[in-house]
Amino acid sequence: MTVPSFEEMWAELLPVGRSAASGGYRRFAWNSADAECRAWFEQQARGRGLAYELDRNGNQWAWLGDPTAGGAVVTGSHLDSVPDGGAFDGPLGVVSSFAALDELRSRGAEFTRPLAIVNFGDEEGARFGVACIGSRLTAGVLSPEQAYGLRDADGVRLPDAMEKAGYDPTAIGADEDRLARIGAFVELHVEQGRCLAEGQPVGVAGAIWPHGRWRFDFHGEANHAGTTRIEDRRDPMLTYANTVLAARKKAKQAGARATFGKVAVEPNGTNAIASLVRGWLDSRAADERTLTELVEAIERAAAERGERDGVRVELTRESYTPVVDFDGPLRDRLAKLLDAPVLPTGAGHDAGILASAIPTAMLFVRNPTGVSHSPAEHAEQADCLAGVAALADVLEDLACQ
Ligand SMILES: [Zn+2]
Repeated sequence: MTVPSFEEMWAELLPVGRSAASGGYRRFAWNSADAECRAWFEQQARGRGLAYELDRNGNQWAWLGDPTAGGAVVTGSHLDSVPDGGAFDGPLGVVSSFAALDELRSRGAEFTRPLAIVNFGDEEGARFGVACIGSRLTAGVLSPEQAYGLRDADGVRLPDAMEKAGYDPTAIGADEDRLARIGAFVELHVEQGRCLAEGQPVGVAGAIWPHGRWRFDFHGEANHAGTTRIEDRRDPMLTYANTVLAARKKAKQAGARATFGKVAVEPNGTNAIASLVRGWLDSRAADERTLTELVEAIERAAAERGERDGVRVELTRESYTPVVDFDGPLRDRLAKLLDAPVLPTGAGHDAGILASAIPTAMLFVRNPTGVSHSPAEHAEQADCLAGVAALADVLEDLACQ
């Protein structure tokens, strides 16, 4: 049986769902590019004599050995993208999984546990606004009712999109039996940062930082931009601007992240002082205490400045994800086996969702610029192949003894 090499698989996937205008990818849940990626996955599974399986939540599986035997070692990632995303986020993990299996077969490895490669559906949440839908449904942290309520930007409901793509939306929901048969899950992913920029090409994930979104409402008073004296104004734009600067300064001091990436202004007129500025803060830190203190400090800075500006500040937490600690013994085993550094990450992953249910680990492959979720996302070929070799070593260690 001849199977395509890493380079050949990479070349096959490269044009799928790529925008000629931006060079970025538009592989969104249940669209035609997603269907092409899924067909590619099935073809790779069958071409290697693996048992292909589609689960109730739209995740694809390729099995070597008996899926019901228990203690399975699972690897894989996702094939969907953010709007105008890069080629590596997701596909690197899936392609590397098939290549690592090929490598193990060429080493003559004897498997003592079932092995599976998985493509989790709708990891990025680009279409329905919730990330990791496939793994969240499987782990039972997103209910079918919640999923049924999701709509895309055109108003298409998630179950309708699934049905149109040929899947049965009535079957979605927690899949405890499946998770109970998995002994370990290892996801390889391109690094979305620069911890590996100098040094080794592969690292092991320590934890996913806690993160959340907070909405700041700055209430001022609308008035004429020309006739209102400076001292008579209650301008929420000033309070907002100072809060952005304070967030940046305090995040830097705390070694954390704080970003105002979205803002809405009322009435949004060039010649009117704003009555309301609404700014969304995305903040992340290595631990929950640092994150809480950082957001409190930003809130205090906003309130103090608001006092001076005659602006009332209101804060609403819109979402929050606690810290995800990957399985300690598994992490240490991988780091020792590969002699690889342990790195933190500020991004969410399917592995982070599954970590609460099964022993889970992640490998990161060096990203020289750290750029991700962009067409400029990149990893060198030699580093990708080092990732494949590392994943093969890990799978051999976990599934062949
Ligand atoms: Zn990803």
